[in-house]
Amino acid sequence: MRVIVGHYVGGIGGGNLSDDLIHSNNYDPVPGAGEGGRPVQLSPRELITARELYTLHSYNILVSDRISINRSLPDMRSESCRNVEYDLENLPTASVIIVFHNEAWSTLMRTVMSVLLRSPDQLLKQIILVDDASDRRYLGKELDDAVSRLDKVQILRSSERNGLVGARLMGAKKATGDVLLFLDAHCEVTHGWIEPLLDRAGSDDVFICPHIDLLSEDTLAYTKSIDAHWGAFSWRLHFRWLMPSGEVMVKKSENPSKPYPTPAMAGGLFAVRKSLFWRLGGYDKGMLIWGAENLELSWRAWQCGARVEITPCSRVGHIFRRHSPYKYPGGVSKVLNSNLARAASVWMDEWADFFFKFNPSISAIRDQQNVYDRVELRKNLNCKSFAWYLENVWPQHFFPTNDRWFGRIKSEAGACLGAIPGTPGLGGPAAGLQCGNDLDLDRLVVYTPEGKIMADEGLCLEQGNGRAVWKSCSDSRKQLWEQKGPRLKTAAGLCLTLLVSDKDKEGVDDPLTAKRCIEDDGQIWHFERVPWR
Ligand code: UDP
Ligand code: MN
Repeated sequence: MRVIVGHYVGGIGGGNLSDDLIHSNNYDPVPGAGEGGRPVQLSPRELITARELYTLHSYNILVSDRISINRSLPDMRSESCRNVEYDLENLPTASVIIVFHNEAWSTLMRTVMSVLLRSPDQLLKQIILVDDASDRRYLGKELDDAVSRLDKVQILRSSERNGLVGARLMGAKKATGDVLLFLDAHCEVTHGWIEPLLDRAGSDDVFICPHIDLLSEDTLAYTKSIDAHWGAFSWRLHFRWLMPSGEVMVKKSENPSKPYPTPAMAGGLFAVRKSLFWRLGGYDKGMLIWGAENLELSWRAWQCGARVEITPCSRVGHIFRRHSPYKYPGGVSKVLNSNLARAASVWMDEWADFFFKFNPSISAIRDQQNVYDRVELRKNLNCKSFAWYLENVWPQHFFPTNDRWFGRIKSEAGACLGAIPGTPGLGGPAAGLQCGNDLDLDRLVVYTPEGKIMADEGLCLEQGNGRAVWKSCSDSRKQLWEQKGPRLKTAAGLCLTLLVSDKDKEGVDDPLTAKRCIEDDGQIWHFERVPWR
């Protein structure tokens, strides 16, 4: 589940830690620690050790080793979800598939135990652990022994590093349940988690995801994530959590226990009927190690006649990490970029051209990808276009289209419009920017027929209190700018103005606001179209 794909760095693994530390299992639960999903706090001294150990897993292993693998968690469901009744006799059965590469013992086992503790016996067919060529000693015989004492749990081992796609396929091939239910190896499921997933996965046309909550990487506290989210992606194809469309928000409030659609899934946690998974082509085996498989699967599902949804009634905690702790053979960018190139070239049609045009380093490896089989699959399944996907599944998207203008909006004073890249999606005060070249996505905007000025990350130019700001695109009228000759006007007839402080600086870093229209270079805007494909 990526928060910010681009911030991941791979290949740290170990540093100066001793072999003994790296390879031993130091699980040593302290009674009461972390019970009820509460945080575990360390002493300042322990914090120093914990920090040194971060390189191993990118989460606090000292804390994890202190919490029982059977720890209790509260019922995280909303009132309306608790009132839903499921007919267990008629739900399909699940094969839970957990792949891992060098995961911590306590975290992995807590994932397994939470599933065993909180799934009705008749619904859980098996848990398949797939070891993707881990080299930590404690994941060998010690894990075999622990697993052999557990009913329903088995381990498959791969001697070669296959990456998460290869590992999940290995697990899926061995699954005997009706539904494949994938989990990352650092999750904890809560009461009632499996019923809503199986209920919806039974219908054979949907990939259904739980509502993913947060397990703190520092304290392992279980906290609820915001209610209203869905998955999508930026111009650079980084996965993003965004606010669902207004229409979906209304439906959610009318029926808070009902599954709702999402343009994309985060990737690590979902359920799908086994027959549907294979009918739609499993996974793209050409995808290495990690990344982009979630977008590929989401596009394939939607474009080929299925759906991707989130059920708010299934709550599962996941440790979101800031860094990827393991090695990426070949280098993290090469791996990620080749996966992205595959996904884009098979599914995105004209928008693949957009993606490649503005990401030349990914474009350079495009031809190295053999995606013949995946293109054939798309043909054989008679899948719809990416244009259809954007229009119907994600009408609120911020990509350029044939009827949306795309390019640079440049002030007569010199500076350009653009959202300064900060925390993705957060926006901030709008200011004039140095214009940059034609490939500089941060200075390029979409101008829609209705009058929205959209930047990457779903940010729209909005007249705020006294100042223009970049804010999440919404239905607000404050985000509408009408082009009147060389001016951009608000509904109230005010003009978008770059408040130039010093002519020599051409308005760079100067604020923007809507003001009474006057003779002023800061109110004159040039629309320089940039071809996007
Ligand atoms: N994984 C794997 N092989 C790999 C990379 C990852 O089996 O080469 C597993 C990993 O252990 C985890 C899952 O795939 O259980 C998803 O990876 P991760 O949690 O690192 O992705 P994130 O949640 O950070 O997107
Ligand atoms: Mn994960």
